[in-house]
Amino acid sequence: MNETWDVIIVGAGPGGLACARRLAAGGRRVLVLERKAVIGPKVCAGGITWDGLLRHVPESLIERGFRDQYVVTNLQRIRVRENNPIIATVDRGRLGQWMAGAAREAGAEIRTSARVMAIDRDRITVREDRGTRCIGFQHLVGADGADSLVRRHLGLASERVGIGINYQVPARAERMEWHLRTRVFGYGYGWIFPHRESVSIGAYGARGNLGAATLKKRCIAWARDLGYELERVRPGAALINFDFQGFAFAPFWLVGDAAGLASGLTGEGIFPAIVSGEAVARRILDPAYPADEIAAMAKKQRRHQQIIDLSARNPILCTLLMEFLALLLRMRLVDFHTLEMTA
Ligand SMILES: Cc1cc2nc3c(=O)[nH]c(=O)nc-3n(C[C@H](O)[C@H](O)[C@H](O)COP(=O)(O)OP(=O)(O)OC[C@H]3O[C@@H](n4cnc5c(N)ncnc54)[C@H](O)[C@@H]3O)c2cc1C
Repeated sequence: MNETWDVIIVGAGPGGLACARRLAAGGRRVLVLERKAVIGPKVCAGGITWDGLLRHVPESLIERGFRDQYVVTNLQRIRVRENNPIIATVDRGRLGQWMAGAAREAGAEIRTSARVMAIDRDRITVREDRGTRCIGFQHLVGADGADSLVRRHLGLASERVGIGINYQVPARAERMEWHLRTRVFGYGYGWIFPHRESVSIGAYGARGNLGAATLKKRCIAWARDLGYELERVRPGAALINFDFQGFAFAPFWLVGDAAGLASGLTGEGIFPAIVSGEAVARRILDPAYPADEIAAMAKKQRRHQQIIDLSARNPILCTLLMEFLALLLRMRLVDFHTLEMTA
């Protein structure tokens, strides 16, 4: 082994790139290894809270922003309106490219088509086009998503996961819609998120709700009723990890989906990935840094978990909860931010 870095980051998703940028800006020698050839594209609806996003990336990356959110339940159809946009959509390809550029500018090295195959105490084995080799590290950050190798190396199980199915349809839509229809999606939901030149249509649910095949079948039938023929579009499906069990296992660290920091209720994970990536970087730079933002997200995630547990136990209660939530939104007794992971 003749190559060693201060920090190696496995995975160039939003979590890994946010972490790399901050560490490099703090003077650390950082190497990011990404198994894909192209950084960015990922199965995702690209929905992100307007406020949360703009604290971390430029407004030019926003595809569309929405002041109105349309919520549909078994019995209600409501519009939630705010003065400023509540949720925006981003294209994961463009977001990834921008974040990679910012990390490189700060001094991080990013290698694509580089898959981490094995992890040891102070080195990893990586397979690249030119062959397989070992690289040494002082810190190793697992930013490698819901099926994280680093997480598995640490022996952490991922029991609490959800599945999301996304169809990126080449169509124009004007409304951002959330379909909390328990008759169709159980305690999951379906979404319609308009982008600039396409619309993301999909469904999400925690494991134990509906199986992947049922979720897909119901998503297709539901979308057909709304005028979208999804069978002509190639779907993307992936897991979302919300089994948070800690992030600091020095010299190993976990961020984003690898840490299990997404919301089990909504599947929101981009913002938690960026925030935890930055927090872990700060902790590596300064061991006294408290990383309170991760604790705050974990707390919010636990509240979301309680709603899932309640809903899973009793389908009638679940329907009542969804109707009650819509009613509270309609009466403005809660706002959309209640459901977000924004700390
Ligand atoms: C259908 C669907 C819809 C979603 N919609 C939304 C949404 O609207 N809003 C939202 O906030 N979240 C959404 N999410 C969740 C969101 O996509 C994730 O939470 C987010 O991408 C997590 O970011 P991350 O950086 O932790 O991991 P990822 O974005 O998964 O990045 C991990 C990276 O690590 C790489 N990698 C993995 N293993 C290795 C290895 N061994 N070696 C090298 N590289 C490796 C991967 O190729 C990948 O690039 C959705 C998820 C799904 C499945």
